[in-house]
Amino acid sequence: MFFVPETILRYTYRLRPGAGAARALWQEWGRNRWLWNQACARRKNREPRLTGKDLTGFRAEHEWLRDGSVVAQQQTLRTFWQSKGKRFKSRKMALPSLNYTLRGFSLRDGRLVLAGGLRIPVVWSRDLPSEPTSVRVYRDNLGHWYASFVVRRDDQPPAQTGAMIGIDWGVSTTATTTDPAYDLEASEPGKRAAQRLARYQRMMARRRPAPGTTGSRGYRAAKRRAAKTVKKIQRQRKDTAVKWVTRVVRDHSVIAVEDFKPKFLAKSTMARKAADNGIGMTKTELVERAKRAGREVVLVKPAYTTMTCSHCGTRAKDRLLLSQRIFRCESCGYTDGRDRNAARVILDAVGQYRADVETVRHSDLPSGEERALVESGIPRL
Ligand SMILES: [Zn+2]
Repeated sequence: MFFVPETILRYTYRLRPGAGAARALWQEWGRNRWLWNQACARRKNREPRLTGKDLTGFRAEHEWLRDGSVVAQQQTLRTFWQSKGKRFKSRKMALPSLNYTLRGFSLRDGRLVLAGGLRIPVVWSRDLPSEPTSVRVYRDNLGHWYASFVVRRDDQPPAQTGAMIGIDWGVSTTATTTDPAYDLEASEPGKRAAQRLARYQRMMARRRPAPGTTGSRGYRAAKRRAAKTVKKIQRQRKDTAVKWVTRVVRDHSVIAVEDFKPKFLAKSTMARKAADNGIGMTKTELVERAKRAGREVVLVKPAYTTMTCSHCGTRAKDRLLLSQRIFRCESCGYTDGRDRNAARVILDAVGQYRADVETVRHSDLPSGEERALVESGIPRL
């Protein structure tokens, strides 16, 4: 018997709304934000929850609300009741985000057509693998609009190789593995961009607006360039991570990973924080894609991994300082790079300390489908 598992994913595309469509999206967002805040107020005051009936009442009462899509408004209420958050969305702080289920959107002549007849050109950077079941339209802090479609894709998992790999996370080398061919160096482009970012941040500091004012044109320009640089760094990091993860997952059947908790490196310099973010994102990608490919993922708690000898298993009495890059075993004399030794200990944990390690099973993490639904606010029926 042979079956191809179906994966539910998000495919995101840039939108190019003209001035009119962009204004209409803002208005739509405004109506939904108002509704969200009404629901929020009710929850805060411990009043009965806002229902579809209330929505009908609101729409009868307010003409401007009637002008908006009822599908998007119903979805706003559903998303609200599913979210644990109780925060109001302020006009200045919250980024616009609109959700449409099947009844609320369609694709026609390469354009996204939203309920209410709004037609927006889409930059089709790649083909959709299937008909989308829902879409989230959102705007980022640079003012770019995107459409994120929920789609199904038939994924053919790569063949099992039987090979195993252990992975230790770090600052200068993001991932040190049991096989040097799979090490992942910290991405360099980020460093160069970091200098550029620091320059824009200094410009912002010089031009800082007085409290209560919107800031000079120069300040806003510097702020925008800083945000753009951050986005670029994130995109490059993600690109590097995904390429590495794809290779690791393709070539190994068992993947033992240090269970990185972001705080463990954060002594709060910018570089450490960036490393924390990079590691967290890479680990998430790795676990998610390995699971999708049917690999066994073992998360190993980082305690003692740098103190244990991967050769004889003896645990050193003292913790290695972060500056000590070489591990030397007092018991058997084995010497190795600190992170390489840790990667070996992590891989050993798969067999040796079954009780200490946590194996990722499909039930432990939300599946791609569940996540896609949670993100888009569609109820799990
Ligand atoms: Zn030893």
